[in-house]
Amino acid sequence: MLLIEAGAEAADPDIWNPAAWPLLQGRDYDWDYRTEPQAGTAGRVHRWARGRLVGGSSCLHAMGYMRGHPSDYQAWADTTGDSRWSWEGLLPVFQAIEDHPLGGDGIHGKEGPLPVYLPADEVSPVARAFIEAGASLGLPRLQGHNNGEMIGVTPNSLNIRDGRRVTVADAWLTPAVRSRPNLTILTQARVRRLKLDGNQVCSLEIVGRQGLVEAFADQVVLCAGALESPALLMRSGIGPQGKLDAAGVGCVIDMPGVGRNLQDHLLGAGNFYAARKPVPPSRLQHSESMAYMRAGTFAANGQPEIVVGCGIAPIVSECFQAPAAGTAYSLLFGITHPTSRGSIGISGAEIGDRLIIDPAYLQTGRDRELFRQALEAARAVGHRDELADWRERELLPGTLNSVAEIDDFVAQSVITHHHPCGTCRMGKDADAVVDSDLRLKALDNLFIVDASIMPSLTSGPIHAAVLAIAETFARTVAYDMV
Ligand SMILES: Cc1cc2nc3c(=O)[nH]c(=O)nc-3n(C[C@H](O)[C@H](O)[C@H](O)COP(=O)(O)OP(=O)(O)OC[C@H]3O[C@@H](n4cnc5c(N)ncnc54)[C@H](O)[C@@H]3O)c2cc1C
Repeated sequence: MLLIEAGAEAADPDIWNPAAWPLLQGRDYDWDYRTEPQAGTAGRVHRWARGRLVGGSSCLHAMGYMRGHPSDYQAWADTTGDSRWSWEGLLPVFQAIEDHPLGGDGIHGKEGPLPVYLPADEVSPVARAFIEAGASLGLPRLQGHNNGEMIGVTPNSLNIRDGRRVTVADAWLTPAVRSRPNLTILTQARVRRLKLDGNQVCSLEIVGRQGLVEAFADQVVLCAGALESPALLMRSGIGPQGKLDAAGVGCVIDMPGVGRNLQDHLLGAGNFYAARKPVPPSRLQHSESMAYMRAGTFAANGQPEIVVGCGIAPIVSECFQAPAAGTAYSLLFGITHPTSRGSIGISGAEIGDRLIIDPAYLQTGRDRELFRQALEAARAVGHRDELADWRERELLPGTLNSVAEIDDFVAQSVITHHHPCGTCRMGKDADAVVDSDLRLKALDNLFIVDASIMPSLTSGPIHAAVLAIAETFARTVAYDMV
């Protein structure tokens, strides 16, 4: 078995320091993409971080672990016609992944490779006040976000053990696994193109330290992520004919679905408050609590529609000036199931050619309407008495007099929540790219196992869902390959 990774092994000690995660962006192991200018966000170009190292984006991410809501997965089961992708189907899979303090209760996992930590004493007093404020409005108190109930208030569950980040490479590529005689890990080696023979991938062209080499394989599992997996297919001539023609790539298999259906969560950054006394630095990872809710009510239950998060730092988009750390805090606000759909394209046939990333942020009226409600919910929480000891005054957005002014503020304040997915969507319809075994529909021996196959976003951060995709594939498809 050959594992090929474009980047190097993780080595920067900051990776394992939870509080340092925002500083990792822009370092040499971040792909550091740029989107196309976004009409829905005041014409802004958004920077998208992605990990380029063994462990991928799990080395850069914010460590929040949220399975999502059962309805999120019912949508996957419905679109594939395959109950493996339902909440009930995935429950044993999540349990196998997790080492959770509540493990063994029939819901959470115990002694799996990935720690899920429920913070207690370290939770910031600002996040505690935020949780009390949400509860005073009627949001239920939860113990983490992972038992199927998401609406409510709780500290975020984190992939941290003994105060250190645990990456997927730490969890699964253990020394025992790395020493297996049938595994070779090839780093700083980038797959440039898949070569096809009929309905098979026969070899991969790899650009690495030895220059261009070709590797032959019986089975290929593509895990390059929501941006690079569709890009690699397109560079190999698999994708929408028109886009391939425009990029100067000969079309081998016309698959209109490749690169389509791009989705991402946005967060408004933020509903922002000057503090009346110094805000102690986060002892966790700054984003300590996310409150999920229905729009327009704090009482209802079910699948979330909006989220309000508590940032123990002055978190604002580049359109605004952040005051000094310790003098302010941000309530972040967003929507959980955006209906806007974007796309990934390639600008040329070579790996150096820029990706064309168009998330089509805030293109639907529904998304803009729900964003207004999310901002309103953030302000309702932010102005509660429970936060009065911390709140000197609201700095952003201040007075907004019309829907147009609210929409302008949202457009300027939103930043990516870092959850691009959906660009090689699984499903049983003709436009889906992979089937429910994650096999590329047009080929016999190519599987895609990463965030690109998600038909739709889960309610919260998506890393847990990506791991469940990988574990399901390992148990039910890859198992039969060996
Ligand atoms: C800054 C940030 C914060 C986030 N915070 C959270 C969070 O708190 N909670 C959460 O749930 N999610 C979070 N996410 C999202 C989460 O990390 C990702 O959704 C998830 O890691 C995606 O996994 P993946 O396997 O699809 O892709 P990745 O983890 O990105 O892996 C793709 C891998 O493929 C390699 N690769 C790409 N192209 C090639 C090629 N041609 N040849 C060889 N190798 C290649 C890449 O270098 C990379 O290692 C965050 C992401 C970021 C960037």
